[in-house]
Amino acid sequence: MKREIRAAARTAGFDQVGFAPAAPPTHAEAYEAWLANGYHGEMGYMAREDSVRRRLDPREALPGCRTLIVVSLLYGSTPPRTTAPGRRAADRTDASRGRRLPVVARYALGRDYHDVFEERLDALSAAIEALAPGARTKRYVDYGPVLERDHAQRAGLGWIGKNTMLLHPDLGSYFMLGELLTDLDIEPDPPFVHDRCGTCRRCIDACPTEAILDGRLLDARLCISYLTIELRGAIPEELRPAIGNRVFGCDICQEVCPWNSDAPGPDRPPFAARPGQPMPPEDMVAWAEELAALAPDEFRARYRGTAFSRPGRDGLLRNLAVGLGNSGESGVRPILERLRADSSPLVREHARWAIDVLPG
Ligand code: SF4
Ligand code: SF4
Repeated sequence: MKREIRAAARTAGFDQVGFAPAAPPTHAEAYEAWLANGYHGEMGYMAREDSVRRRLDPREALPGCRTLIVVSLLYGSTPPRTTAPGRRAADRTDASRGRRLPVVARYALGRDYHDVFEERLDALSAAIEALAPGARTKRYVDYGPVLERDHAQRAGLGWIGKNTMLLHPDLGSYFMLGELLTDLDIEPDPPFVHDRCGTCRRCIDACPTEAILDGRLLDARLCISYLTIELRGAIPEELRPAIGNRVFGCDICQEVCPWNSDAPGPDRPPFAARPGQPMPPEDMVAWAEELAALAPDEFRARYRGTAFSRPGRDGLLRNLAVGLGNSGESGVRPILERLRADSSPLVREHARWAIDVLPG
């Protein structure tokens, strides 16, 4: 059964598959302490009592659960858009590509990975149903109440690095995780017990907002990924300069990790854009102009099925205003003046800040 499920996971298109016992996660106490410190910021769904209960025991998420099938999809170390093939995202910074380039987390330029995982987990679930009629399954991608990196480590997929990402010695960390909970009793894989971080602390030192804490903890309230994607309100002013031109997410703590220096890219990127899917312009001014002209329903239609729909029009314009202010280029002033009169108070406030920090 295990061999056949593993083969079915490969057929469904997953790069890694491992089996973990349905037991409370190893880092349950650390997770509760993380919540108690408020490091989850505005992600209140993480602290909801029922959600915590299910995160701390997968059997709460699927009664009778015996096994977690943990899968991964590599999205690759090379950014999906670059003018010089083979250049890494670390090169897509102000200095090398112009100060107006919007830097976007590399997983985001294409389809929303949740949709891709859901399709493939459903295919795996159907294969399991054919192998074991009556078996129950429940799928999760990262929005679910599952401490996925913890279970992935237990399933042998890698270790949790100091940057809090799951790392594999051959694959690096540019992959996303998903889980299929099942009531099938399948022998677990050996856990990944080695910590390959050693004395390295490159990710901690490189983080522009000092969001990575000792003890493999992340203060999400300081992390650029949280500030530009999850946060709904204003970005704290003291953090705006450190965001630079990262207008959607941040990959810095992965880019500097030595385990990613030779990380492979997939032959066919799993989150590649659909034919005809619009790509954001490679210029913050052009992107801000496009978004400013879109009504809410037009934004939803244009960005449906992409990661950019999460912060929405106003969140993206907020981020772009910060990036434009940080560009230090006086030529961006006209679009910021336009954003200062935007219908969204959030956008107006960030545009005012950006104009104030521009030189001259
Ligand atoms: S994603 Fe960026 S801001 Fe967040 S912890 Fe990593 S380096 Fe720091
Ligand atoms: S940069 Fe160094 S410390 Fe950070 S996750 Fe990678 S190996 Fe570990």
